[in-house]
Amino acid sequence: MGLKDEAVPTSELPSHFMSHIERLKVDPNHRVVIHNHATHVIAMTFIHSLDENQFTKTLWEMCTECIVVFPDGIGVIPWMVPGSSEIGRETAKKMKAHHAVLWPHHGIFGTGSSIDEAFGLIETIEKAAQIYMLIAHHENQQRITDQELADLAKAFNVTPKEGILNV
Ligand SMILES: [Zn+2]
Repeated sequence: MGLKDEAVPTSELPSHFMSHIERLKVDPNHRVVIHNHATHVIAMTFIHSLDENQFTKTLWEMCTECIVVFPDGIGVIPWMVPGSSEIGRETAKKMKAHHAVLWPHHGIFGTGSSIDEAFGLIETIEKAAQIYMLIAHHENQQRITDQELADLAKAFNVTPKEGILNV
C-alpha cells in the first residue's frame, strides 16, 4: 500500500510463509503470524543479553501473566538483513519450539490460532519489555522468584520451557 517508485514492501513474506509452515507442524490450530516493531522490545535488545533463555526469564519475571501467556519462551535470532529467505529460515527454525521470535534491534514475530491470540502475545511481551525498561536502571527491592514462577506455571497448568527456572 502506498508504495512509490522503486519502494519495496517490508512485509517479510519469506519469514511469514516459513513460520506458518513450522507452526502448522506443531499446532494444527495455528492460523496467524504477525510481525511488528514493538518499541520496548527493540529497546531491550540493546541493553539485555540476547541469550534466549536469559531473555525469556527476564520477561517472565516482569509481570505475573508472562509465564502463563508464553511458557514456551521466546526464540531469538542474530541480527540479520530483513526481507531475505535466510532470515525467514532462521525465524522458522525458532518457530518449531516458540510462538514468538525476536529480531534484535528490529521487532518481533508473534503467532497464534487467531489475530487476537497472536496480537495478545506480542502485547504481553511488549508490556514486559516496557516494565523492564522502566525498572532496569533502578535498584529492585523484590522480584518474582523462580519458585514462585514454577508455582504459577503449575497453578495455570502450563509447562515452562526447560532449562530456565532453577527450582
Ligand atoms: Zn520489520
